[in-house]
Amino acid sequence: MISQRNLFFNHIAQTSPEPLALEIDSALGVYLTDIHGKKYIDLISGISVSNIGHRHPNVVNAIRLQTDKYLHLMVYGEYIQSPQVLLAQKITSLLPSHLSNVFFVNSGSEANDGALKLSRKFTGRSEILSCLNAYHGSTFGALSAMGSEDYKQWFAPLIPGFSNITFGNIDDLQKISVKTAAILIEPIQGEAGVRTANGVYWKALQQKCKDTGTLIIADEVQTGFGRTGKMFGFEYAGFTPDIVTFAKGMGGGMPIGAFVASKEMMESFTHHPILGHITTFGGHPVSCAAALACIETIENENLINRVPEISSFIVNELSDINGVREIRAAGLLIAIEFDSFEINKKIIDTCIQNGVIADWFLFCDNSMRIAPPINITNLELQKAIEIIKKSIEKNI
Ligand code: PLP
Repeated sequence: MISQRNLFFNHIAQTSPEPLALEIDSALGVYLTDIHGKKYIDLISGISVSNIGHRHPNVVNAIRLQTDKYLHLMVYGEYIQSPQVLLAQKITSLLPSHLSNVFFVNSGSEANDGALKLSRKFTGRSEILSCLNAYHGSTFGALSAMGSEDYKQWFAPLIPGFSNITFGNIDDLQKISVKTAAILIEPIQGEAGVRTANGVYWKALQQKCKDTGTLIIADEVQTGFGRTGKMFGFEYAGFTPDIVTFAKGMGGGMPIGAFVASKEMMESFTHHPILGHITTFGGHPVSCAAALACIETIENENLINRVPEISSFIVNELSDINGVREIRAAGLLIAIEFDSFEINKKIIDTCIQNGVIADWFLFCDNSMRIAPPINITNLELQKAIEIIKKSIEKNI
């Protein structure tokens, strides 16, 4: 009989020559269990998705209740579907009052594409700025905004009107002009290896955008829903966006994304042309029910309050270890920097062999990603830290 492993390599489109290829049988809380019964602590939450752990009972229960009622009914925007309405009400109640209108999609790339389209339609301008070393997704719109020519060049020509500035560099804000529709920016750069900018930068960005009538689109795909120790990364950074995009941690493990703007702005999609942005599956009722349960769990269990303490624990435990060059942390989005990719990769491989899942960042391959579920217990965390320490010692 052909093994699942062979079927995977033969029939599942591959994204790299060396996938992790762990064969997972089940997942619960912070743990993944493979087909041989080996348990792994998922210290990266499936890349910032399982913010409240895998298969949280509240999420599973919400999914069950919704599947008893209906699955897909109609393309997005036509019927009044309670899971969508309740989720939009919850999300907007957590955001500044002008961010009152939610467009549900299926992923982070789609959320960013939708937000970029909206910014062009609303402002009537075409120029879009984004930051070097930013990852915003793999669809053509999001790819056009990516901050890496090395990646983009293979898919050219991309969408015209896009250019990059340097994250955190105040002088570069001069590139924002009355021709700029929007700047798409992460409150904390994730794939660049957890990079923050200071309050002076965010203030200057906000002022420049106000002066030029440029919209700020905050990409909260990786930073949203508790990851940084605030509900949203823009609260952590200290600025107010005009449009905000979500996905990943929003759905408690189910696929969903959204972009949120003012009602006035979002109405740009209803005329010239009508149906200016549409989706079949966006805001799938089962994903919306799961997302509402996820957000309510974060709120009701006060999970965000724990984040700074857990973050400091990780930073303190690992910062004096021989071989660790730097640690950058924004809540539970953490980068542990080593001297090279080769060393980082060896340490990560050892961690995985010993039962802790970690990885590196797309644009920062000498740094190890740590982004655990925010409800990880102290005991689980201690166990993971011990394994990381031993893995570092073995490879330095
Ligand atoms: N934006 C950011 C900041 C991300 O980190 C990602 C994915 O890693 C995306 C957008 C794209 O999201 P998706 O993979 O759901 O399309």
